[in-house]
Amino acid sequence: MNTIQDLLEKSIRNVADFPKPGIQFKDITTALKDAEVLKRTSDYLYNQYKDRGITQVVGIESRGFILGSILAYKLGAGFVLLRKPGKLPADTISVEYELEYGTDKIEIHKDSLLPNDIVLLHDDLLATGGSAEAAIKLISQFNVKETHVNFLIELDFLNGRKRINGVESIDSTIHF
Ligand code: AMP
Repeated sequence: MNTIQDLLEKSIRNVADFPKPGIQFKDITTALKDAEVLKRTSDYLYNQYKDRGITQVVGIESRGFILGSILAYKLGAGFVLLRKPGKLPADTISVEYELEYGTDKIEIHKDSLLPNDIVLLHDDLLATGGSAEAAIKLISQFNVKETHVNFLIELDFLNGRKRINGVESIDSTIHF
């Protein structure tokens, strides 16, 4: 049987020069629409985290919501949304972070996590690490018990992993 890494490498589509020249965009829609890949990926991630006592999966908008919520359901955990500014309706806390040009912001509801939570942060892809670093800053404000971090894809050449500190584990299923 093909490994999950083989399946993902074959099914993720590379789109050159999207959204701007020079970017090799890793398009996961071609993996998600394949029923076997979606099931195998969900089962693989579940097996990886099932014994860690995860109580909340935190997903980064928007592609982190897809496998993140499947994982929350399979783990019997809750799901918490990290969103772009102005999208969450109740009281929020936010963090600003640097982009290549300018800054961006992400927000979380003030009442979304508790100190006894064991959190799994999920996003589809780790590039420069700016959004994951901001997400971890937000999560750390809740003084949660443990934070684990998961990406489906990691772009090793951008060294984003260096910006992720103070967490229990970091794992990516495939690397480019
Ligand atoms: P970063 O904050 O630089 O680590 O960027 C990570 C976020 O941007 C993730 O939410 C990704 O969905 C998106 N992203 C960045 N680079 C790419 C890429 N080459 N292909 C697909 N998504 C990307």
